[in-house]
Amino acid sequence: MNKPNFGLSFEFFPPKTAEQKAALLATQTKLRALSPEFFSVTFGAGGSTIGATAETVLELNTHDTPKVIPHLSCMGGTPDEIKALLQQYIDNGITEILALRGDVPSGMGSVGYFRYANELIEFIHKTYPGVFKITVGCYPEVHPETLTFETEIKYFKQKVDAGVDRAITQFFFNPDAYFNFVEHCEKAGIETPITPGIMPITNFANINRFCGFCGTDMPRWLKYKLQSYGDDRRSMQQFGTEFTIKLCQQLLDQGVPGIHFYTLNRSKATLDVVKGLS
Ligand SMILES: Cc1cc2nc3c(=O)[nH]c(=O)nc-3n(C[C@H](O)[C@H](O)[C@H](O)COP(=O)(O)OP(=O)(O)OC[C@H]3O[C@@H](n4cnc5c(N)ncnc54)[C@H](O)[C@@H]3O)c2cc1C
Repeated sequence: MNKPNFGLSFEFFPPKTAEQKAALLATQTKLRALSPEFFSVTFGAGGSTIGATAETVLELNTHDTPKVIPHLSCMGGTPDEIKALLQQYIDNGITEILALRGDVPSGMGSVGYFRYANELIEFIHKTYPGVFKITVGCYPEVHPETLTFETEIKYFKQKVDAGVDRAITQFFFNPDAYFNFVEHCEKAGIETPITPGIMPITNFANINRFCGFCGTDMPRWLKYKLQSYGDDRRSMQQFGTEFTIKLCQQLLDQGVPGIHFYTLNRSKATLDVVKGLS
């Protein structure tokens, strides 16, 4: 496959079993061939994967490229624990972090020491001045806990002003939501590049569930179309790939800074989409 001429990045989660680990290693080998700008590795809620994220990051970081960006959330422990983790990353040449509030684990009434991503970012810059580049998440269709679109922009700006180099969106299906968000960010004086986060459609039940808790709007026509395939997963995936190619192409044609794929540790759907892009 020809190497794409736009910025690509791929998100993985830390594997829990030996089988999952083998699958991730195979996936990253295939996706590495596309010369992505970076891989990123998620951070589990409740601090449960504080070690697992670092372990996966260090394992993926054994090649010169691409760089590997660990996610770090406010659920990552005490300031001292977060400081130690950051030092471990510095010692291994990792100086970019995807900083998040994280999702409050069910059953826990409150979040960690830091309440919002901007506080974590301020801590990172204060603890290691000038060391880390920071990426953050953002929500063109509005974060589920945010009450208004204006508040979304307001807190996003506050986060960016804490010292951010790039933002990646929550996954979406409607490109207008992305373009509208970017336009409002520009009006608010936010200059940080906003990379669309894209989740290839491989499993209707799963993606529909993710939409539920991420606040992503799945258009009714798309939901009905995906449902109509019933048990015919192959045809559903084929349609899903065609849909995702069109979405990404529309975004690229409008000059987005790159595309970040939520891979769920699988390569096929992402490779099929990238192959279909001109
Ligand atoms: C690219 C990407 C990667 C992700 N990776 C992970 C991951 O690895 N692990 C994980 O657990 N989750 C991950 N998530 C999910 C994310 O953690 C959740 O969506 C979380 O609920 C919000 O995190 P945030 O950093 O965007 O929050 P924040 O920017 O802190 O915002 C959280 C909520 O608080 C509001 N808010 C922000 N600042 C203030 C303030 N000062 N006062 C009052 N309200 C405020 C916001 O409007 C929003 O409703 C990811 C999301 C994205 C887009």
